[in-house]
Amino acid sequence: MTANSAVKSGAKLKEVHHFIGGEFVPGESAETFESFSPGTGKPHARVALGTARDVDRAVSAALEAQKGPWAKMPMKERCQILRRIGDLILENKEELAIAESTDNGKPLSESLEGDIPRSAMNFHFFSEFAASHVEEAFTVSSSERHVAVREPLGVCGLITPWNLPLYLATWKIAPALAMGNTIVLKPAEWTPYSAFLFADLARQAGLPPGVFNIVHGFGADGAGEALTRHKDVKSISFTGETSTGKAIMMAAAPTLKKLSFELGGKGANIIFNDANLEEAIPTAVRAAFRNQGQICLAGSRLFVQRKVYDQVVEKMVERVKAIKVGDPLSRDSQMGALVSREHMEKVLAYIAIGKQEGKLLCGGERLSELGEGYFLSPSVFVDLKTDSRFLQEEIFGPTLPILPFDDEEEAAAMANDSPYGLSASVWSQDIDRLQRMSNSIKAGMIWINTWFARDLRTPFGGQKSSGLGREGGRYSLEFFSEAKTISYKYKA
Ligand code: NAD
Repeated sequence: MTANSAVKSGAKLKEVHHFIGGEFVPGESAETFESFSPGTGKPHARVALGTARDVDRAVSAALEAQKGPWAKMPMKERCQILRRIGDLILENKEELAIAESTDNGKPLSESLEGDIPRSAMNFHFFSEFAASHVEEAFTVSSSERHVAVREPLGVCGLITPWNLPLYLATWKIAPALAMGNTIVLKPAEWTPYSAFLFADLARQAGLPPGVFNIVHGFGADGAGEALTRHKDVKSISFTGETSTGKAIMMAAAPTLKKLSFELGGKGANIIFNDANLEEAIPTAVRAAFRNQGQICLAGSRLFVQRKVYDQVVEKMVERVKAIKVGDPLSRDSQMGALVSREHMEKVLAYIAIGKQEGKLLCGGERLSELGEGYFLSPSVFVDLKTDSRFLQEEIFGPTLPILPFDDEEEAAAMANDSPYGLSASVWSQDIDRLQRMSNSIKAGMIWINTWFARDLRTPFGGQKSSGLGREGGRYSLEFFSEAKTISYKYKA
């Protein structure tokens, strides 16, 4: 995207400003960049291009707010404000959903039924969970006791991706606020709009000025990197690509920040001969193609036991061909557009690799009949090897390779033959086999006869190149706080 190249079309673009110290403000340089709508291929917003100076302003506002009432407020009161934020998200569900689908290209039904309610749930969940958080006390004798307390970290930097914009930003904002921190958020440059609308809701809910700030802009050499390098930012919670996680780790090292990384994935979905195919097949379609395949937890490699392989491939192709790709803002579209032209071209390049390395059974083409938007038909591939680039690299698009296997051992080896280890699904009726498979797959999350099921109390994160640390439930509260032990000696 080019800074200041907006309004070529003459259409009026929405203005998306930074949110600093409780106010919407332009960037210091006054430079902007365009945010494109993937469904039309046209710009729909002009966004403040954040610089290191804007990050500095936001961090100063957040530091100042740390001195105010927020960090000292009883947890219960903070949590009441969190609850109000969750309520306001639900009250403004339509507007937020339209913003998300316009910015990201996902079907409106997904935004309305998935992303936005989940964003509200992140606040509702953490408002209750944090309020019931208990501290540990260790009593040695009637005259000696040790108490472990948790204090706010200070200013937390949050850097988020474009695939689930508000869903993943609120997943970090809610626990960070609950623990009394102040925040600077850097949303993905492709999808700044829902965070912009959210800031106003947080203000309406009573969040004091400076507690929550947003700086828009780019990552490397931009606002993201400036946040990572800032000496007064105590932690970075990052969700995005593995390579970005490595860059952030290096940039953060001189200031010794606490880091939490939720990174890339290449989930294995494993169907055994005895699986309930009535459930496994439609779920495999959703797991591969929801959000145009742009989900870190996607079941993006499908392994099927030999006896049911032909049957599963045939049914998968039938269902994938029937997916209705269309305008993200139309309620009956099942798949929308990919997030950007660049990303669509990257996925098309992988499709070309897939055709060389294996066989394309359906889809894999740009749907130009839908206009200038970034629409691809969902594709299914067979005859690939597990060590092919198509299987090894994260494509993050609507493409699914299907491979056969003979036995448990081979299925586990295929699942583990990946640099990633975020999630996997296993489908079978044999409980002992399911347990053995759960033990042998190296991944942060294993779904048994399901996909995408979540309880927000459980640890969320990946093994291998899929992440560092865990968020969710107490793992989030611990990440967004500093532990301190206070030891008491009484006169017996
Ligand atoms: P990305 O890494 O390109 O960008 C993510 C964010 O990091 C953006 O806000 C970007 O501006 C910022 N950024 C980029 N370079 C930076 C740098 N050098 N310093 C600081 N900030 C920088 O990722 P993306 O393309 O937006 O998102 C897709 C990726 O996210 C996929 O790999 C996907 O698997 C992953 N993801 C993981 C999870 C998870 O929970 N594990 C969830 C969603 C997405």
